[in-house]
Amino acid sequence: MHLLRRWLIDVPLIRASQLFDKSSSLPTRILPIATLLSVFLAGCGDNSPRYQLLSSSMAPGLIGPTALGQCLNCGTEQTLALETLRPEFPVRCFGCGGKCWFRGFCRNCDHQCLLDPKTLVPQLSANTFRSEACPQCQLNLELRVSPGRQVKPEPKPAKFARFDRIVLENADRHEIKRIWALPGESVSIEDGDVWVNGELYPKSLAEFRALSVPVNHWGDGSKGWSVEGSLADGSSTAETNDVLELTAGEALRWQYLKPAPVDVESVDTSQWLTPSHLDDDWLHNQGISYRPARVHDYAVEMVFEPPFEGLIRLRCNYRGQWIEWDVQGVSNTQKGTHDTTPSSKNSRAAEQQVSPMLAEGRATLACVDRRILQHTDMEQRVLHWRASQETEPHFPPAFTQVEIRCLSGRTRLRSVQIHRDIHLRTDAPETLRSPVSSWKVPLHSYFVLGDNIPVSIDSRNGLGMVSWDLIVGSLPADQDGGQ
Ligand SMILES: [Zn+2]
Ligand SMILES: [Zn+2]
Repeated sequence: MHLLRRWLIDVPLIRASQLFDKSSSLPTRILPIATLLSVFLAGCGDNSPRYQLLSSSMAPGLIGPTALGQCLNCGTEQTLALETLRPEFPVRCFGCGGKCWFRGFCRNCDHQCLLDPKTLVPQLSANTFRSEACPQCQLNLELRVSPGRQVKPEPKPAKFARFDRIVLENADRHEIKRIWALPGESVSIEDGDVWVNGELYPKSLAEFRALSVPVNHWGDGSKGWSVEGSLADGSSTAETNDVLELTAGEALRWQYLKPAPVDVESVDTSQWLTPSHLDDDWLHNQGISYRPARVHDYAVEMVFEPPFEGLIRLRCNYRGQWIEWDVQGVSNTQKGTHDTTPSSKNSRAAEQQVSPMLAEGRATLACVDRRILQHTDMEQRVLHWRASQETEPHFPPAFTQVEIRCLSGRTRLRSVQIHRDIHLRTDAPETLRSPVSSWKVPLHSYFVLGDNIPVSIDSRNGLGMVSWDLIVGSLPADQDGGQ
């Protein structure tokens, strides 16, 4: 069988002297985020009600009201959950580390401009901020706010399954949450993961995809990518939306970078970003003051431009160890004729060698819940991750890195996406801190969480278990997708 796998242990490239601590460089928290409403009745076009999201407790799948920011340095736009916006908070671009300002407008003359967050003044009415005077008519400029998404619940089914999203009624308002544990189960949160009846719950790739948070999408000109070797078209960096062609010996590399805790006005642009391991911080939540937690679990999804005829090797690090995975492209004409048995000469080498998996157009490596899920559009494998003595329990502080190397032939990449797992926690934010980390779900009730763990009020911290009677509907997955 091909379940045997060599785990290569790599010396960390950079040794972090200390973990990045955002809270040390920021003003203390101000906004109490315990007052999140979730949904209210927005209007009735047809028979079934629609609800307007009032918070981002279910982001990133369902986004609540946001303010649109723009990086003053690179121009990248980013959305910030409105309930996390604090006027004195320095919002940073996750692409380059530069400062972000916000879209503003004048109600009177429609003058539009970017507003310095420092000039914003919260108004008494919720979700409104005023800023400096309009240069044309002297009225105060206002923050332009995008309303949250509208959703349309469906009638509740006979029973729910894990990870279903429900609409529940809570003190005269409606909220959306996700089911994590079923009636009668015992559930606990440990190291970011959910344990059900005493065992780590192993998410399938489909479940991981539904819950994951996007980290990087190559093709959007994102920084952090570099290409080794000279590319066919002569370019040396991967900053276009075009297909990236790699020939034998060339490699695409990515390293997770995040805004460094520096004052961007007094230091050079080269110091605005710093290499890091993945954590549960993300741009939508800027303004929430909590210590980000390290996130181990993530996935790399590659989409190849056909015909894919090369052999590529994906390398990435997981829990301090290097994972290697070879993928052999199979164009339509070659299908069924490929020999995938290892070609090593002696049996000992053959034992250690894992044959490359075949792919036509898509391949995903997910390091999730202490397993390595290898999915292509032609094959699937699940490998159980084993800790090596050298790395556990004190694994080296290796930063999150990915390399896609073309070993032979020619590979054309249409996109590479990196998603991290949802990271459960009971300690953030402090105002919502849960006193316990394990629960027993009564019969006819469910343990529910919001997807945006750092801001959600749910079964951990105030909502408690949700009984069947309080659930008014379900929300199918096809209603996802930003705003
Ligand atoms: Zn930027
Ligand atoms: Zn004006």
